[in-house]
Parts: sequence; structure tokens; C-alpha cells
Amino acid sequence: MTDVIRLLPDSVANQIAAGEVIQRPASVVKELVENAVDAGATSIQVIVKDAGRSLIQVVDNGKGMSDTDARMAFERHATSKIENADDLFSLHTMGFRGEALASIAAVSQVDLRTMPKGAEVGTRLIINGSKVESQEPEACAAGTNMMVKNLFFNVPVRRKFLKRDSVELSNILREFERLALVNPGLDFEFVNNDSTMHRMIGSSMKQRILDLFGKGLDKQLLPVSTSTPIVSIEGFIGRPENARKRNALQYLMVNGRHMRHPYFHKAILTCFEKLIPSDSQPNYFLCFTVDPHTIDVNIHPTKNEIKFENETPIWQILTAAVKEAIGKFNAGPGIDFDVVDAPEIPVFRPDKTAEHSIEIDTTYNPFRQESAAGPSSWSGGDSFKKAGIGSDWDQLYEEFLGQPTVVESKISGMPSPGMDLGDLKVGSAEATLIPDDSMTGRNGGKWSDDEVSTIQVNNRFIVSATSSGLMVVDQHRAHVKILYEQFVEQLSGSRALSQRVMFPEVFSLTSAQSAVLTDITEKLSDCGFELSFLGGDSWSISAQPMLPDGVNPVEALTAVIDDYRHSRHDDDIGKWRETVALSLARSGAVRGGTKLGAEEREHLMAQLLRLPTPNYTPDGKLIISVISTDDLSGMLR
Ligand code: ADP
Ligand code: MG
Repeated sequence: MTDVIRLLPDSVANQIAAGEVIQRPASVVKELVENAVDAGATSIQVIVKDAGRSLIQVVDNGKGMSDTDARMAFERHATSKIENADDLFSLHTMGFRGEALASIAAVSQVDLRTMPKGAEVGTRLIINGSKVESQEPEACAAGTNMMVKNLFFNVPVRRKFLKRDSVELSNILREFERLALVNPGLDFEFVNNDSTMHRMIGSSMKQRILDLFGKGLDKQLLPVSTSTPIVSIEGFIGRPENARKRNALQYLMVNGRHMRHPYFHKAILTCFEKLIPSDSQPNYFLCFTVDPHTIDVNIHPTKNEIKFENETPIWQILTAAVKEAIGKFNAGPGIDFDVVDAPEIPVFRPDKTAEHSIEIDTTYNPFRQESAAGPSSWSGGDSFKKAGIGSDWDQLYEEFLGQPTVVESKISGMPSPGMDLGDLKVGSAEATLIPDDSMTGRNGGKWSDDEVSTIQVNNRFIVSATSSGLMVVDQHRAHVKILYEQFVEQLSGSRALSQRVMFPEVFSLTSAQSAVLTDITEKLSDCGFELSFLGGDSWSISAQPMLPDGVNPVEALTAVIDDYRHSRHDDDIGKWRETVALSLARSGAVRGGTKLGAEEREHLMAQLLRLPTPNYTPDGKLIISVISTDDLSGMLR
């Protein structure tokens, strides 16, 4: 038999390799920009035409190449970045496989101009489908200017499978954004079909995020920062209320490299559980720094998938850091009201020429208050008074979404942080929603009528004027949220606080409920319920968790049982407590249809807006909605 095995010519081998490394124009952008970064460039320009189909050009001011290196660079496995296999485990560069340029040149027409710094003259090299067409000296700028034309011109199948220009362009842009984000210190420019889409100068990570994704993100970024011997994590997470249903901005980076890491992604999501609706995703931008020996970048040709040696400890460090960042924005030091813009109170001015079928008192403003109240300890309180306290909620709300440091002290006149037992005291003489002054940490004692800035609609919604329109709060959901947070805290101890009842209450359940309760009696005792089975379907309660006034323990228990029957069963004790907390909160919360006095409304709002994520109930229902001034104008047109 004759021998049949042959070595493939380089040009064919390169084309095959290109299939892995270069899948679409965006891959070329990635490889070329990474080379520019590796070359020490401080300024990188990306130019594309026809979504990269006819041209992808990357111009850098990096160290450039000699004419020999320029030729060598296109050989397969030609790299200046590693020398031996050990170097793979101490990588400090983006590239190392020496594959990208060979692959790119195999499937396109390359026109390279490059000159090392300090050289007199550079070189221009033209390669057509792996074949060197020409190389000549050429006067050019120091650095590298690489043009990749007519990608896949010689692989018609591939070219045919490129998507519509808009899709390929958005892939390119996504890649560009990642590259610009992992290298915030470098200048970047992006030009598409002669129009500049991005131009940014090297700056901080935060500034880079704003440059790339819009200034509007400024207010929602919470810094994350932690440093341990295993990993340092720096960056930002978006506030829970800014979670998105679609296109959340999610970026994980390690040692200056973008990565896909479903496990760490999951870690971040768990921190947002119950804080955001289940169909939403948080924004995050997190950079890990680890010892290069503890990761393996070499598991995939595009180097996006990375294996970590210390995955489990990093999970823990990551979740702790993210949770801390979320928690922190509910607390903060003092405030200078002089820097707070005077809020605008929208005043109703009916058009004098319009005909009104009803009489309108144009001087009446239910939200305006004449006497400015407020604890004297507020610094800059005067300017705040001048601004008009009537729009208190608006400001509170907006600051809440805006600046963490402002919020806490702004509401320092309201119940103190930490668990407010005022609502949970058993046997308290106070009405359910009214704070016990001794517990609230409030300087001024009772809530005075002066501070009323809300009205109740239909015994169901609390409505308040804000500078952006009308803020509408669902009172039941708001209270569910508040109680839920309190119960979670109450139940989070090793054993929940429990109240013994003087005369055990006997009650009966349906047999289905009874069967469930038999299953969970043990778990419920962990939450403060002490229950005895009396035979038949009868039970008795001899101890119960601290419940808000007016909450019937049997009703609360039945709510827990019924929710348990309809929910996923979770062995995780933390999750179980959260489930119980939600059931208790639901059964204890003030219902729609209940009239609330001014003080109760105020207190409810204060407690709600003090929470890190006032917008949604733990099960993802909207609590707050704002009808914008524009909407109102539209309605009244
Ligand atoms: P790798 O980046 O894995 O080393 P590439 O095929 O991407 O492989 O590049 C091959 C070599 O070409 C690099 O190691 C580097 O020495 C050189 N090179 C590529 N791009 C540039 C550039 N923009 N500036 C300077 N040198 C470059
Ligand atoms: Mg490279």
C-alpha cells in the first residue's frame, strides 16, 4: 500500500485554524486590538467599513515591528510573547498563541504599515490569502497600522454565512466595548463608515463605563472593592432597581481580559435574589486580579473561557463583596444640603382661557406645607426649608436612587436603620404602622401634621407629588416589603425570637394543610413557631415569632402552610426562612381597603424608602410607580 498521509500546506492549515479563531469580523477586531494593547499602545483607533466586510483597520501607537518581525508575525505559532509552555501559566499579555495574524492573513487581504519607535523608516507588507505579495520600506508613523480587507474573500461559504451588516456591526461594537472597558486607561476611537461612534480618552474605570454606556449610569453604579490574597475584585454593580429585563450590562474581567464565567455570573445573581424581579438582570462591571498561575486561559482559542484554581473561595469573596456593596448604599455619613438642588414643586396652573366644568381652587396644594419642619440637627437645614419640604418624598426618592451618602442622613429624622421593632412589638399600644418613638431614633418625637405630604387614594394607594410627577405607592405591597425585611432579619439568627403564648391556641386545619404542617413542624420551630399536633386535624400553638400587632398567628401560620404547598421546596435553610418571612409579611401587611392616617402613611413611606430596593416586593411586584409630568400633561390635553 502506498503512503497516504501528507502534511497540509501552511495556507490550508492556517485557513483551518482561522475557522476557530476568526469566526466573524468582531473576532478580527478583538485580535488586532489585543495585539495593540500587548504592544504597549496608549491610543488605539478602530475603523470599519461595511460592518467589517470590506475593511477592519486598527491603528496603534505601540512599539511597532521591525521589517523581519512584520513578516514573522504572520507565520503560524509566531509570537514574541511566550517562549515555553511554562510561560503559559504566567501570562501578562493578551495574545500568546501566535495564531491570530496567521489566521487572519489566511482569509483576507492584509495591508500592514508598521515602524518601531525611534526607527527612521517603517515597512509596508501586503499579504493576500497567506501569500506575501510585497514588502517595501515606507515612511509611516511609529506604531502599527493594520488593514484587513475583504474578510473571507477566499472562503465563500464563510462570507455567505456572515449576518446582516447591522448584526455584524453590533457584534463588533460589543467586542469593542469589552476591549475599551478592560483597558480604561487607554484612548480609544471607533469609526464606522467614516462616522465616529466612540471617542474616549484614557481615564478611570467609572469614566470609561459612562463614556461607553451613557452618563445616565452615573447614579446607579455602586462601587465594589475587595482585596484578599486569592483575588482582588474592583468595579461596580448597578443598583437593584436599575436591573434590566433585556440587555443588562454584564462584564467580568480577569487580569485585564474579558471573560465569560457562568459560575461567577450566578454568584452575582444570587446576591440580587429577591431584590429584583425574577425576569430582570443586574448590571455589573467587575475586574478580578489574581495570580496568573492560578488561572488557565488556554482552554479555548478565543481565550474568553478561563479556568480558576480557586473557584469556590472566589465565589464566597465575590458574593460577600457584592452584598456589601448593595448593603452599603443604605447607609452613609453626613449630608450637606447646600449641594442639593432645590427641588421643584409642580404647581397646578389651569389655563385661564380653558373652560372647566368643575371648580378648581388654584391656590390649593395638598402637598405644600407652610411651616417648614425638620430636626435642627440637619446641616444646611435652612436651605432645605427654603426649598420647600413639600417635595420631601420626591427628593428622598430621587436621592435614594441617586446618591447613597445623601439618603441616609436625609432621612435621619426618620426611623433609625437596623431593625425597627416598633412595628413588631407584641402587645404594643401603638397602631400597627405608627412608630414607637423610643425605637425610631427620631429627634423630633412625634410625626407632626406639618410633615404630611401624602394623600391616600381609594384606601389603597399613597400618592405624593414629586418634581418629576406623581409618585404612587401600593400600600399593601409596600408594607409587605417592609415587614419582609424585618422578618428576614428576625429569622436570620441561629434561632428566631419567639414569644410564648399564655394560653396555647387550638385551631384546626384542612387535612391537606395538616399533612403539610406535619412535614414542616420541625422547620417552623426554627422560625419561632412551637406547634403540637392534637389528633385529627387539630393543632395548638404555644409559641410564635414576633408578629406585628393585629396579626393573627393562626392566619400567619396558615399563610405559611399554603405558600409552602404552592412553592418549590427548598432544603436551604436561608431560602426557607425567606419563604416564611414572605408568607408572614403577606399575612401581616396592611391590606388594600384600609384607611391610613397621615402619620401611618408618612411612616410607611419613610420605612419603604429607607430600604435598599423599595421598588419591588420580594416576589417581584411593583411597589412604586411614577406618573410623569409629561404623562399628566398628555392626559389633560
Ligand atoms: P500573539 O498575539 O498570540 O503573539 P499574533 O498572531 O496575534 O500572536 O501576533 C504575532 C506577533 O506579532 C505578536 O507576538 C507580536 O510580536 C507581533 N504583533 C502583532 N500585532 C502587533 C502590533 N500591533 N504591534 C506590535 N507587534 C505586533
Ligand atoms: Mg495576538
